[in-house]
Amino acid sequence: MSEKIHLTALSKNELADFAENLGEPRFRAAQIFKGLHQRRLGSFEEMTDLPKTLREKLNKTATASTLKVESRFVSEDGTRRFLMKTRDNLPVETVFIPTENRDTICFSSQSGCPLKCDFCLTAKLGLLRNLTAGEIVEQIIVVLNDVYGTGAETPHGTNLVGMGAGEPFLNFENLIKALDIMSEADGLFIVPNRVTVSTAGIVPKIYEFARLEKRPHLAISLSAPNDELRDKLMPINRRWNIEELFAAAKEFEKSMRRGERFTFEYVLLGGVNDSDEQARALANLLNRYDLQRVKINLIPHNSAEPLEYKPTSWEQVERFQTILESKGVSAYVRRPRGRDIYAACGQLAAKDAPNLVQISG
Ligand code: SAH
Repeated sequence: MSEKIHLTALSKNELADFAENLGEPRFRAAQIFKGLHQRRLGSFEEMTDLPKTLREKLNKTATASTLKVESRFVSEDGTRRFLMKTRDNLPVETVFIPTENRDTICFSSQSGCPLKCDFCLTAKLGLLRNLTAGEIVEQIIVVLNDVYGTGAETPHGTNLVGMGAGEPFLNFENLIKALDIMSEADGLFIVPNRVTVSTAGIVPKIYEFARLEKRPHLAISLSAPNDELRDKLMPINRRWNIEELFAAAKEFEKSMRRGERFTFEYVLLGGVNDSDEQARALANLLNRYDLQRVKINLIPHNSAEPLEYKPTSWEQVERFQTILESKGVSAYVRRPRGRDIYAACGQLAAKDAPNLVQISG
């Protein structure tokens, strides 16, 4: 028998067509959409507003959920990491990051990652496959239900970041479809303005992203002030170099809304890219391209075996930031979250180690 169709992956229109094909009136699709996305139900049995016969019919051909939570880890700082498995048994990781004012969910766009950034643990997995739109949406549903309770309202508007495993811009179509589905007012209702997507620098897709009518915010992983070093740290730079990347960023600026800024992420690697001189080179680079609406997020490197990098001392992190600021570049330091449970940036590698505090899923 062919695989059951995952309804969470369907747009409202596609769901209406699906209902019609089943011989059902189109309004049933609206009920199903709400059941999946607004009430965040994981099975048709729970959609008691649907006639029993329809629920049975749905069960035969379709499914409301495909991801299985395999383990769930809670950090001492409150961050939670979910390790899930797809139907074909591939890992998907999602991270919940609470703060005082708002909560953030960090989702994955691929299982594994094809890019070979030298400082990132996910790279060691290689690409397993692109996630479907449904698998992207379902990650958010699983986390919201776990944190707030099934279907319960999110207390203060949750933000999303596409900064988990994978390169979102190499799974562009599914990513954009998932974000469209999540933005629906009678669904999850997470609007693009509350979403940031990070790319390692897939340049043609930055242009495409800029042209989208409703698009999320953008972050670009830079991590080096020149091509020589970036070629080594992020091999994608050999395909699209800094000049091409900055030309795309410049074009992206034209698509920005009032008050919007985009981000360059810069992972600080002890003794590799974190010197005073490199801070000055970075500021000069930004100033040379006259990027007006950018900020730098400095990310202290999260170590993990077998990555060989050393962290930058806090003193040097602050110096690096101060040098950027003194040259007119806004710079922030990203506070590491969830390091103890392998949930921090660059640590998602489907780790299921027994030394981690595990609570039942
Ligand atoms: N592939 C996309 C999305 C992943 S975002 C991208 O590269 O932008 C994950 C962020 O964490 C990226 O900015 C990446 O540079 C950063 N990162 C990777 N490994 C890290 C590590 N070990 N410590 C800190 N940050 C890391």
